[in-house]
Amino acid sequence: MNYISTRSTDGHSVSAAEAIKRGLAPDGGLYMPQQLPVLTRADLAELSALSYPERAANILHRFLTDYTYAELLADCREAYSSERFPGGAAPLHEIDSRMSALELWHGPTCAFKDMALQIMPRLLSRALVKTGETRTALILVATSGDTGKAALEGYRDIPGIRIQVFYPVDGVSRVQKLQMITQTGSNVDVTAIRGNFDDAQTGVKQIFSDPEIREQLNTAGTFLSSANSINWGRLAPQIVYYVSAYCDLCTKGMIRMGDTLDVAVPTGNFGNIFAACIAKRMGLPLGRLICASNRNNILTDFLRTGTYDRNRPFYTTISPSMDILISSNLERLLYLIAGPVRTAAYMEQLARDGKYTVSPEEFRAIREDFTGYFCDEEETGAVIHDVFRKNGYLMDTHTAVGCSAAMQYRAEHPDAPHVLLVSTASPFKFAVDVYRALTGTPAEDELSALNQLSAESRVPIPAPLDGIGNRAVRFTQVIRREDMPAAVLAFAKAAD
Ligand SMILES: *Cc1c(COP(=O)(O)O)cnc(C)c1O
Repeated sequence: MNYISTRSTDGHSVSAAEAIKRGLAPDGGLYMPQQLPVLTRADLAELSALSYPERAANILHRFLTDYTYAELLADCREAYSSERFPGGAAPLHEIDSRMSALELWHGPTCAFKDMALQIMPRLLSRALVKTGETRTALILVATSGDTGKAALEGYRDIPGIRIQVFYPVDGVSRVQKLQMITQTGSNVDVTAIRGNFDDAQTGVKQIFSDPEIREQLNTAGTFLSSANSINWGRLAPQIVYYVSAYCDLCTKGMIRMGDTLDVAVPTGNFGNIFAACIAKRMGLPLGRLICASNRNNILTDFLRTGTYDRNRPFYTTISPSMDILISSNLERLLYLIAGPVRTAAYMEQLARDGKYTVSPEEFRAIREDFTGYFCDEEETGAVIHDVFRKNGYLMDTHTAVGCSAAMQYRAEHPDAPHVLLVSTASPFKFAVDVYRALTGTPAEDELSALNQLSAESRVPIPAPLDGIGNRAVRFTQVIRREDMPAAVLAFAKAAD
């Protein structure tokens, strides 16, 4: 199966390995499979009997046809092993008889990005071999905290790839900083930048677009690549857990094979919920795709009016991974609904005017699958508090936004089917805000919040965060933004 750009005018297509290696298409569009594989009831019955790594290899093989099943199975077994996901790769937790949480945060960094970033580096490593690439890939990441750590964990010790992460020295939380500066692995580097996240991000972008640095790196046998969430290699693995959850809900008797299942997804860049959309189009019996936003409710407005308008204030919230005004993966939905020519035009309008409006027919097509809700900070805290006190289930701030959306939908549709609430982070990842929501009082400090939350909820601290203050620090360098190119060249030239 081949892949084409969401903005393609000439129909040019590339292999899956090529799409994963490139990330972005040369015309600025995102790669999409040329057709979607079909998932039958018989397939679902067969998948139900398999382990998560086997389910993942089965689904991925339908998309990545230039990888062998044996390659994918080996990669999935490593990526989703019980050492990396001690609590299971994508376990379910029943909140009540009509709502189940799909916990995607039992991996090494306690957030759902591990589901894609544990497997994607392995797919990239094979893509380099398949495309005849002899140079080393250098992954550059500017991070405001979570993505950097998840990428470091995913790429560490992967053959043919090195990873260098830049973070703003005063712009990440203490726990996030500790997670990064204690990172293990022989192919990793972590550097603090004096400045804010924008400085780090701008620095990385400048390096990507500097032909002189690229040439120097090339001489050193290296080329730049990104761990961006728009890469097809990050999206494809996210389709798997919707299929897996459906199988598990059937096995547990929460739904019957063929029943419709609604899903509620805490959304930022639109990757996670778009994976659900693909699963539905393949034939998985999903119903409403409930898109949950925080105060940055640009997607709620889009799904209610058909106008996407980024000309609005940006809010910093307690669900920071959803603080986004440009949801890149929405472009893939536009492509499915409106085709490449109109998608390219909408993206041009977005770049020029900061907004676009889809046609009435396109809007109707989008509304057939998607519904949007949002909630504010107070409501986020109230949901954490109420669900824990009533149902004994502890959730993080992002999941709480998703839960609020699911409850709003249910209130409007009392006969709605079972809803799958996608839980995107461990509550301990956002312990300060979760503790305050539960008790109404602030935690002593960020590290104590982990213990205080554990004592209050009687839920143990997940291993990757436990004792984080006692690990050996490996990376202490703090540099100016202007010195980033030199740091990149030095890392590229340093021997493994
Ligand atoms: C990245 C992230 C999200 C948003 O997911 P998208 O795929 O970008 O929509 C939600 N919650 C958490 C905890 C995240 O890290």
